[in-house]
Amino acid sequence: MYCPFCDRVTVCSAHAPNFPMAPGEYLQSAAGHPDLHWFRRSRICTTCNESFHTAEIYEKHIHELIQLRDGLGDLAKSVEALPAQVSRRDD
Ligand SMILES: [Zn+2]
Repeated sequence: MYCPFCDRVTVCSAHAPNFPMAPGEYLQSAAGHPDLHWFRRSRICTTCNESFHTAEIYEKHIHELIQLRDGLGDLAKSVEALPAQVSRRDD
């Protein structure tokens, strides 16, 4: 799998079920988003020995995340392009 620390596709082992998470912590959800559920897993990269968590989630939500990131980037560029006097209401 992909390791975000050494930026390589390599073998990463999965931790035992209770390390470092309690058994009930595997299935995650987000308050206010009843359609979002994912399985959280702890991994250790066998190349760099770093540990990290991964999430197994419906792929549709990854595409949604990409669209949201793109939209936020476009919004930030639009705000940066606003004239300075528009952002200061008390002038
Ligand atoms: Zn690694």
